[in-house]
Amino acid sequence: MNNVHRTRVSNVLIVGSGAAGLRAAIAVHAAGREVVVIGKRLRKDAHTVLAAGGINAALGTVDPEDRWQHHFADTFVEGHFLADPRAVEIMTREAPTALLELAEWGCPFVRLPDGRLDQRFFGAHRYRRTCYAGDFTGRAMLFTLADKLTELGIEIHENQYVSRLLVREGVCFGAIALDLQSGDRTIYLADAVILAAGGHTRLWRRSSSRRDENTGDGFALALRAGASLADMEMVQFHPTGMVAPEEMAGTLVTEAVRGEGGRLYNGHGERFMDRYDPERMELSARDRVALANYTEIAEGRAGPNGGVFLDISHRSKEEILEKLPRMYRQFMESQMLDISRDRMEVAPTAHYSMGGVAVIPDTHATDVEGLYAAGEIAAGVHGANRLGGNSLAETLVFGRRAGEAAAAFSQAISAQLRDRTAIAGAHDELNLITREGEELARPLQRALRDNMWEHCGVVRDDGRLRKGLDRLASIRAAAANVDVRPSSEGYRDLALALDLRGAIVAAEATLRCAIERRETRGAHQRKDYPNANPLLLVNFVVRADRDGNQELSHVPVSPIPDELKTWVNTRKALAPDGRLLE
Ligand SMILES: Cc1cc2nc3c(=O)[nH]c(=O)nc-3n(C[C@H](O)[C@H](O)[C@H](O)COP(=O)(O)OP(=O)(O)OC[C@H]3O[C@@H](n4cnc5c(N)ncnc54)[C@H](O)[C@@H]3O)c2cc1C
Repeated sequence: MNNVHRTRVSNVLIVGSGAAGLRAAIAVHAAGREVVVIGKRLRKDAHTVLAAGGINAALGTVDPEDRWQHHFADTFVEGHFLADPRAVEIMTREAPTALLELAEWGCPFVRLPDGRLDQRFFGAHRYRRTCYAGDFTGRAMLFTLADKLTELGIEIHENQYVSRLLVREGVCFGAIALDLQSGDRTIYLADAVILAAGGHTRLWRRSSSRRDENTGDGFALALRAGASLADMEMVQFHPTGMVAPEEMAGTLVTEAVRGEGGRLYNGHGERFMDRYDPERMELSARDRVALANYTEIAEGRAGPNGGVFLDISHRSKEEILEKLPRMYRQFMESQMLDISRDRMEVAPTAHYSMGGVAVIPDTHATDVEGLYAAGEIAAGVHGANRLGGNSLAETLVFGRRAGEAAAAFSQAISAQLRDRTAIAGAHDELNLITREGEELARPLQRALRDNMWEHCGVVRDDGRLRKGLDRLASIRAAAANVDVRPSSEGYRDLALALDLRGAIVAAEATLRCAIERRETRGAHQRKDYPNANPLLLVNFVVRADRDGNQELSHVPVSPIPDELKTWVNTRKALAPDGRLLE
């Protein structure tokens, strides 16, 4: 291969050009350090563009009683006490400033007639605190951030696939990236690296993510660099994904539909949420609504395509076109279905990685010196169940914090040592992976997705999870023999092989943690352990040894600060399975 090898030096390298990566870049720049952002897709096409319904901040514009402490309590209680209280505190306290700043930069959030930002309900929030830009909030946010980067002169390098982080004696000093079009390689050297590479929900057959995205490669990069992963078993299944047509199965039907009054019915025409959460009905937490939908389907009360029905047809067409324009178009274009007149058939879909890279809440520093993580890739904020709208808030708040911390780290070091052997090893790895083989990555990726859906889905048990691990071992063996060569389409084969390699690592960590958590908590529903176990108020942590073998341990969840306990107890009394804190 005669590809060009380049070197690019900056103070801070950011891997990922979603909302978290871009917000981090702005913070690094503001701190006076040079920053480069790289991503494996185009500049304004990170996964964040899919985010629909909105972003949370306790602004209190529509419900003046709202406070950040209520937002804290909602997030912590509905996360089933597994989140890091400090991370939740930071996010809920700082979300209002982060959101208003973005609005000031031109993000077109919907406003009330008096000019203040409108706020809508999202599931399990006590007050209306979700700001939105129609149902394309993520796109509006990403475009605003990307334009800000242009204004500030910050570079975003597109089509750059990071295959390895570079580490010397426990300190991260950059990454190697492959240009997916030309095959050229760049060694990005930096004082500090921020991983903002998203989650791993594309590892399930039904997923709200797009093809070749959210494949868990960020988790694998972190693990190999020496960082640890936490709460990997906590995968959110969104209750409402499309079921038809087949190629759209899993595509999200935004929670904003329920936020705007959407009702759920089973195949018998019963509005069934009163059996699962009679108080909050369709505005219950995601884990409960997902389990309700799953149960109705599993017990034989499904519609013709194996789903339940979501109905918003009692709202006027004008309202739907104003509040849910993307959903209207999505069903019209794919099924010729007018949601202002007909019901949508929906079923659970893998949607969000609540676990991820373990970080220190204040700085989002990982266990590896010089390596930070922010956004969906990081663990800590959501515990066992994420509230809708919290993820976008997390990207802004912790993107900024990680950026500031990485910039400060860069400022503080007098010299950054590189390691030629680590760089040579990263090149060798890419050379070795490019060869003829008997297998193709795409079908193996499909086998992996089927495996995770069947053995590590909405409802789990020990037998199925172990079968999943066995099946994963055979996929791993086959993956060692994948055919990879450059083609007229560029280096897509190589990217697919790397995606598969990352996916296998992320899937293994998920299965292992899911086996260990012998209880039902939030999104982790165990048929064989149907109740929560108070002794399991721990986070399962995965580390990898030099050969990639994964080792599990657990650490207790950090205690909640005294001044926030009353807020939590007030909120807890409202939850269906309420238990007060001491
Ligand atoms: C359909 C849908 C709707 C959603 N709606 C909402 C909502 O309304 N509200 C809300 O709060 N949340 C929502 N979410 C969740 C939210 O969109 C995401 O959690 C959030 O956007 C993640 O942002 P991020 O910056 O962490 O990562 P991403 O936006 O996923 O960006 C990851 C970046 O990393 C890059 N990358 C990954 N691996 C590599 C690699 N190996 N090398 C180089 N680059 C790499 C990618 O190309 C990308 O640029 C939704 C999610 C989906 C799927």
